[in-house]
Amino acid sequence: GGLYNIQGWGAPYFTVNMEGNLCVKADGQETKAGQEMDVLHVIQAAKQKRKDIQFPMILRFPNVLKHRLDALHAAFHTAISRTRYTNTYQGVFPVKVNQNRAIVHDLVCFGHAYSYGLEAGSKPELLIAMSCLTKEANSRAFLVCNGYKDAEYVRLALSARAIGLNAIMVLDMEEELDIIIHQSSKLGVEPVIGVRAKLLTKIPGHYGSTAGKHGKFGLPADRIYEVAKKLKGLNKLHWLKLLHFHVGSMIPTTELVAKAATEAADIYCTLVNKYDAVEMTTLDCGGGLGIDYDGTRSADSDISVAYGLEEYASSIVQAVRTTCDKAMVSHPVLCTESGQAMVSHHSMIILESLSAIPEPKDDDDDTPEQLRTKIQHHYSASNLPTSTAVMDLQKHGIEAYKLAKKLSKRIAGDANTIYNYHMNLSVFSLLPDVWGIKWRFPMMPVSRLNEEPTRMSTLIDLTCDSDGKIDKFIGNAETLPLHPLDPERGGCYYLAVLLSGAYQEALSNKHNLFGGPSIVRVEKSTAAATGFQIATADLGPTTEELISTMRYNVRQDIVGVIQRRAIEIGVWGMVGEAVHTGLTTMPYLIMEDHAASSWKHQG
Ligand code: PLP
Repeated sequence: GGLYNIQGWGAPYFTVNMEGNLCVKADGQETKAGQEMDVLHVIQAAKQKRKDIQFPMILRFPNVLKHRLDALHAAFHTAISRTRYTNTYQGVFPVKVNQNRAIVHDLVCFGHAYSYGLEAGSKPELLIAMSCLTKEANSRAFLVCNGYKDAEYVRLALSARAIGLNAIMVLDMEEELDIIIHQSSKLGVEPVIGVRAKLLTKIPGHYGSTAGKHGKFGLPADRIYEVAKKLKGLNKLHWLKLLHFHVGSMIPTTELVAKAATEAADIYCTLVNKYDAVEMTTLDCGGGLGIDYDGTRSADSDISVAYGLEEYASSIVQAVRTTCDKAMVSHPVLCTESGQAMVSHHSMIILESLSAIPEPKDDDDDTPEQLRTKIQHHYSASNLPTSTAVMDLQKHGIEAYKLAKKLSKRIAGDANTIYNYHMNLSVFSLLPDVWGIKWRFPMMPVSRLNEEPTRMSTLIDLTCDSDGKIDKFIGNAETLPLHPLDPERGGCYYLAVLLSGAYQEALSNKHNLFGGPSIVRVEKSTAAATGFQIATADLGPTTEELISTMRYNVRQDIVGVIQRRAIEIGVWGMVGEAVHTGLTTMPYLIMEDHAASSWKHQG
């Protein structure tokens, strides 16, 4: 496991056991050795539970999700009591980061005791949030309504208040205020509103464009004060309860976390002290709590951050406390909308390798025969009679030596050969960020981790697209070390893509009409000898479902047309069966058929 830096990005959730298999420790550090969930065994159990399960597959570990949520709250709790902060932390999950039903339901359920809420950025997300936060226990939890709003969005948010939810509409644009005022009087529901601040604090890197003077979202401080003035003029200043900001994902350092929180807290205090917004209660610090994807804990890597949950929480708490104390404003409730930090760890994507072939050498590379001829030439030249200049003799000698080394490497199988591993995957559908923003996730084999992975590899997907490959890995590597495929094992060489629980499913696209993966829910179980149980195993979208999304009426436009033609020719029996199976399975390859032929051809 050391080769893949699993200790770096994986602690405390992932480890390798004595068998050399990747394991999940659902409860972080508290789990005793030998109680981990063996990922290879999980995959085998999922295949057992549901015979038609297909790869690729997402394994979800709700226990990890719960641990993340508990850890975030523990971090804020500790920071608050250490600094004698006089208010509480009350976070929300930004639904956009993973809208899947099981995840939103799990988080709301695990978060009851913390009054943990949800953040929505669109009408569909708001409807999801309204349906998930229905329990009595959720009446305090925030339902933060972000994103651009029209009258319908506003009506939904007011309806959320009408059914007893703590919905807060955060103004992303000043114009939204008029819509809210109008709809609220029309429906007779009092709104609670917040304002999104466009801070000057800017983070470097990919996500930096979210903030700064030219950022896409929110209102600059002076416009926020105008909103307060306008509300006061309308006698509605009591509506304003929250100030929000979000400077972008993956904030690289705690200095920047503190800088943004200080700037926002300043605006908060000015609203209270100068603009009489004395009923303000909450400062919502948005997302941005980073994840260490490469395990370097470094602010210089774009896929890592130089802090953990504790340092993040304490930076925010200290910055806000200091600013508010100076301004003599009472400490606000602190909210964050941490997304990646909640859900990244709890799921992994399992890919199956179909075959591996050595990458063809460059055309101008010599064959072993040509190399031998060249060596002979230089060798003879280096042994010419003493009249030749000594320098020349040396040159030929060195050249002969270099070529001989190259030849011996070539004959020995060449450690420099790159192998293309064909994987049962669409990069576009499973890891859209790898394609879209050149993101790198930790990847490693699920088994054989006590064997040296001798092959430098790149991963090729199933799409007919040259971008459908993975050749950038954590640590800025262009290859991933893998094991030669072993026909004796009849396939079953799996790779895990880790920390992949955030954003990928929602950003997924349907290039070549490949769709989502199977999803397997794995719960820790003390009753089972394996330490886990497969709670559910569901297939991804079928070929028929994927075709339908492109506006075909599958029964009429596809089956009907093919059927008519096949009946004319008299082959509908065979064709009908193939079409039926084709439509009802996922579009990925079914390994049982593929394996027999391709695994025999391994280099
Ligand atoms: N809140 C808002 C307003 C966002 O736009 C985002 C992400 O884009 C988040 C929260 C979640 O951010 P993260 O996943 O970095 O915590």
